[in-house]
Amino acid sequence: MHSGEAIDRALRDHFGLSSFRPGQREAIAAFLEGRDLVAVMPTGAGKSLCFQLPAMLLDGTTIVVSPLIALMKDQVDALRARGLPAAAIHSGLAAGERARAEGDLAAGRLRLVYVAPERLGSRSFAEALGRARPVRLVVDEAHCISQWGHDFRPDYRRLGGLRAELGVAAAGFTATATPEVRADIAAQLGLVRPLEIVTGFERPNLTLSIEHCRGRAAKERSVESLIADAGLPGIIYAATRKNVEQWGAFLAGLRLRAGCYHAGMGDGDRARLQDQFAAGRVEVIAATNAFGMGVDKKNLRFVAHADLPGSVEAYYQEAGRAGRDGLPSRCTLLYSPADIRTQEFFLAGSNPSPAIFRAVWELLGDGEAEDLIEARSGADAAARMAAVTAARLLRRSAESAGVAPGEGEPPIDMNARADKARRDRERLDTIVRYAQGRGCRTRFIYDYFAGGARGGAAPRCGTCDVCLGWRHAAGRAIDDREYERVRIALSGVARLQDRFGVERIAQVLVGSQSREILNRRLEQLPTYGKLGMMKLDEIKDLLGVLADAGLVERRGIEGARPGAFVLGLTEEGTAVMHGHARPSLALPGNRGTPVVARKEREVSGRSPSSRAPAGGDRATGAGAEPDAGILSRLREWRTTEAMRRGVPAYVVFHDTTLTDLAALLPGDLAGLRTVKGIGPAKIEAYGQALLRVLRGSGPGAPPPRTGAAVWPPAD
Ligand code: ADP
Ligand code: MG
Repeated sequence: MHSGEAIDRALRDHFGLSSFRPGQREAIAAFLEGRDLVAVMPTGAGKSLCFQLPAMLLDGTTIVVSPLIALMKDQVDALRARGLPAAAIHSGLAAGERARAEGDLAAGRLRLVYVAPERLGSRSFAEALGRARPVRLVVDEAHCISQWGHDFRPDYRRLGGLRAELGVAAAGFTATATPEVRADIAAQLGLVRPLEIVTGFERPNLTLSIEHCRGRAAKERSVESLIADAGLPGIIYAATRKNVEQWGAFLAGLRLRAGCYHAGMGDGDRARLQDQFAAGRVEVIAATNAFGMGVDKKNLRFVAHADLPGSVEAYYQEAGRAGRDGLPSRCTLLYSPADIRTQEFFLAGSNPSPAIFRAVWELLGDGEAEDLIEARSGADAAARMAAVTAARLLRRSAESAGVAPGEGEPPIDMNARADKARRDRERLDTIVRYAQGRGCRTRFIYDYFAGGARGGAAPRCGTCDVCLGWRHAAGRAIDDREYERVRIALSGVARLQDRFGVERIAQVLVGSQSREILNRRLEQLPTYGKLGMMKLDEIKDLLGVLADAGLVERRGIEGARPGAFVLGLTEEGTAVMHGHARPSLALPGNRGTPVVARKEREVSGRSPSSRAPAGGDRATGAGAEPDAGILSRLREWRTTEAMRRGVPAYVVFHDTTLTDLAALLPGDLAGLRTVKGIGPAKIEAYGQALLRVLRGSGPGAPPPRTGAAVWPPAD
């Protein structure tokens, strides 16, 4: 057994380092103990140390499978420079060198042996390995083992066999944080209850928010106030080239130094734009997801998604480009349910059906060119895109299988394709759930990536729009019938708590006759069928609302598929179930409740005017005349402020915001926050100053605007 002290000593003596980074000590201790491991840490986080250090303490050889010769070489050189016995075995070595390395391996002279996956099939390596004493197997860049990783290598599929043969503890390391890749790594390697360590996706300086926007105009207003609130530089991601160009035009119309970026542009134009952005000559870019790898700008103050992305992974990767300097930054998703269609279109286009594969295979056999194939696949744009996708995939697999196009069955694994289509769909459903969710945004993301690994739900972040109270779906009073149903749903959770997730609990409540229910005899529970008057989906939504309200908790399951949760009751949930408390909930509206809800809100002091609604619902001065005197004072103040800070005037406040202020004349901080373009950061920086300017002329402090009241009142 290796004590913490021995681990510390090895860190210092072998590697010359003084402290561990997040996750390293945990990984090292577990791996030393012989536990299987899956570690997800971002690039540069220090994954290598997690297996190199144990290798120094273990009595035997640690085998490291690594995909890139250059990476292997760097690591081995660095180890040797420290006097640590390591070698790499790959096709780039001269025969003599390879024989020497294999001899050293067989003789037990090496602590670490790096090997390229294709060497695993070689006889000489297998013989050397047979005489060696391997103690651990490590797979670096382990996403390559997963069909769902971006870098899948069929060679890696042999590793499960190797691990079984060696019978030693194994670990996979990767920077790819998707739950399904992680699960696949564990499955392919045959890991047994692996410890999962997932670090580095926490970004406490990001404020995640979602704004529900109906239509383009609402999105434009949101973007404008986001820029005013968060400042520049920033990126606006859109799903299509057309949308990107529209956003480019819109931004230019705001007189911002804006650029457009998408895959349809020439390499030269793209490189030029990147340089200008890097140099600060362009301050905001509208882009498709083609803009990414090259973004090396640490001070992005916001990343907005004007259209729904295809997955939480894609979303968080793109949004996460904001605030690399650690300063507060905004990640805003502008959500309109209509955008789901665009993503469904992409899904259809990138997942051809078996029928399309067969048809295109025949056309390829007839020697048809891609554009003709596209033209022949009809008027439906998604079908045309699917045909092009099919042609590309078929050509590639025909080539690697060495068959002529059109001969026999298409060389495509239709089951694997169906699987991929299903996963793509699930991923889309998950980002839609994020967009429609009512709970803490950050918690949703953290739970998605690390929920299973951490074995519990993440705490609320305190920095997203929900935690900051920007949203107004905080809840309404519920009527007696709703209260009854809520209590039944909660007792449904209580009966099955920590054993089942949303689906199963909802099935019990609705009284489903499905096999899963009957096999487990769940139909005998007293809560079975108690919500039979509701639809299954309604019950699932209800459970979601209860979770968002903190009455029900999503709990990770140790050792289960990452991202899988069981439900449990919180203390508040228990109180409500027993009838000791009656919550306000963000349930969909029903007959008569809007009035009750409004009353309730007024009673609880959250009148519409003192709330800070999401940007889409922010107050604007439309309908009220701005006070010309105050407007010009505001402008004057802004000029001074901008000069003092050395920033352009619009960074302080946009014209539209000043006009709204001069029309709405808020009299306190809460009132200020209802004005579009004024968020928490602006309040903090300018709130008091603004109030002084606003008070400067009016007769006393004007009250906050309520409803459509016109100011000044007509006495
Ligand atoms: P990864 O494989 O996760 O991308 P590496 O293992 O290549 O990252 O490590 C990146 C750099 O971080 C290396 O230069 C390494 O020496 C350094 N490093 C790793 N762990 C520590 C630590 N605990 N303290 C200081 N530097 C570290
Ligand atoms: Mg690495």
